[in-house]
Amino acid sequence: MAKVEFRKVWKIYPGDVAAVRDADFTIESGEFMVIVGPSGCGKSTTLRMVAGLEDISRGEILIDGRVVNDVAPKDRDIAMVFQNYALYPHMTVYDNMAFGLKMRKYDKNEIDERVREAAAILGLEELLERKPKALSGGQRQRVAVGRAIVRKPKVFLFDEPLSNLDAKLRVQMRAEISRLHQRLGATMIYVTHDQVEAMTMGTRITLMKDGLVQQIEAPLELYRRPSNRFVAGFIGSPAMNLFDGRYEDGSFRSGELRIELPRDLGFDVPESVTLGLRPESLRLAGESDAPVLSAKAELVEPLGSEVYLHADVAGHRLVARLNTEEEIHPGQTVRLTFDPSRLHFFDGASGDRLSPSVTGVAT
Ligand code: ADP
Repeated sequence: MAKVEFRKVWKIYPGDVAAVRDADFTIESGEFMVIVGPSGCGKSTTLRMVAGLEDISRGEILIDGRVVNDVAPKDRDIAMVFQNYALYPHMTVYDNMAFGLKMRKYDKNEIDERVREAAAILGLEELLERKPKALSGGQRQRVAVGRAIVRKPKVFLFDEPLSNLDAKLRVQMRAEISRLHQRLGATMIYVTHDQVEAMTMGTRITLMKDGLVQQIEAPLELYRRPSNRFVAGFIGSPAMNLFDGRYEDGSFRSGELRIELPRDLGFDVPESVTLGLRPESLRLAGESDAPVLSAKAELVEPLGSEVYLHADVAGHRLVARLNTEEEIHPGQTVRLTFDPSRLHFFDGASGDRLSPSVTGVAT
């Protein structure tokens, strides 16, 4: 186990591409840190610098207190699991897992013990004599993880390890990797573009955009208190509804849309403001509910347990996630309400969060 520290780390690729800008944070020993963000935001580059697969342009990376900028990948005591597994096709599962240890001249008994232990953890005992082509995608992925486990590294690095698996298997492997983390208690850094993976797996999440860290936080905290408009839109599915408008005389206006706000919000609201409301914060309004949004249904997606309603509200697109048995038809107008404490406020100019907190547990 080891902590990983980024100290003002930059990566500038040839052609002046600043892929990572001033990354400055610490991944604690035993933590499962997910690095998430849209394609091209610098996640893989960040991970690859820890692995030693990319040079660090500026700043320092420390593993277990030691600056590793000039340490060769093989001497960093890390193990990396890639998206495309990279198993040797002509070797058995056993040999694939043993290979790295053989190269490092480990004793034969020690290798055998470690491979069998990893196989037991991953449920691969019956498959040790098989070749990769005789394995399913999930089993191959497990072997790739096994190859990392046998090394007993200080830090595990995962680069989108589940993106080649089908949806069902992804959910299963997600849980397996989380369990593995609990069992080994090792420091793990996991890169993904998938916010659901980030939310379900991370003890903390580092969210990046354009090479810059936007927020580092535990998953639910990130969901409840996104530090800016970008984070708000990225975390949560369907994405948070965001309205750009103006705050005047205690109410919010955006074109034809008008929302009365509580008199005392507890913070100063600038004139130009973006209002955020999660789809799951909306519900069908009863007679006496306020505030009420009049929503014209455009598309209704029934998911069984709930309904995604895509609607037009005073000329704005809005998505609501409703727990209702009631059938809603396109073209129909429904009344929606929400608890004003669920609103998120962002500065219209900078996009930074204004509201200090969202009270209660979001459902
Ligand atoms: P992510 O993993 O978030 O998709 P990457 O870390 O792969 O993003 O890339 C970050 C940025 O750096 C992108 O703009 C990408 O085009 C650029 N980049 C990545 N690798 C190289 C490279 N070898 N040379 C030049 N630019 C690169």
